Amino acid sequence: MKHLIMVVEDEEALALLLKYNLEKEGYDVMVESRGNKVLGEVEKHQPSVIVLDWMLPEMSGVEICKLIRSKPDIKNIPIIILTAKGEEEDKIKGLSAGADDYVTKPFSVPELMARVKTQLRRTPEKKTVSEITFADIRMDLVEKKVFRGENYIHLGPTEFRLLKMLMETPGKVFSREFLLKNVWGENIYVESRTVDVHIRRLRKSLNEYGPDYIRTVRATGYAIDINPLSDEE
Ligand code: CA
Repeated sequence: MKHLIMVVEDEEALALLLKYNLEKEGYDVMVESRGNKVLGEVEKHQPSVIVLDWMLPEMSGVEICKLIRSKPDIKNIPIIILTAKGEEEDKIKGLSAGADDYVTKPFSVPELMARVKTQLRRTPEKKTVSEITFADIRMDLVEKKVFRGENYIHLGPTEFRLLKMLMETPGKVFSREFLLKNVWGENIYVESRTVDVHIRRLRKSLNEYGPDYIRTVRATGYAIDINPLSDEE
């Protein structure tokens, strides 16, 4: 599959020049010229590299860069900031906003092509996570099976999704509201006590073969933790 490169540049002539040359290199190219549109387009199309102009209408490249870095699903996309500013201080500002590289205008087209190629080399192949583990608990996300050590643990679909949520960020305390929204879904009406019921079921199944790693945090929610000092129960 071809790599998709997103060019964010409001100078039309330059945008076209970049598009032409990137396409010649064999990439798919999309051009965006307005700052406030970029984030949505990046989330939608997940480009392999973003070439991002600093000076844009509505929102600066640096602001966009910071926003992209704050979104878990797109934060690892390499960004090359393009700018007419050559000051060292600006370069630092650009890189500290999370840019991977920084190219000063005017630049030679072959140089930019080389920089794009460098970023693509650094981008790991997108792979889907097929397994997550925590201590002796292993979740096979493809087969939708859970094991503790060698023991298969049967979980209902809700318990499975709950455990997955907890195991994706060990130690993080998830509120009941958050769990309801992300495990049950936004439009389903369930009481927050439902979370407790399913956590209890999850604990019962998991703890058959090992210690309790689910931590109850009083008035807050739940976490999975290697040292689960619960505040209640
Ligand atoms: Ca510009």
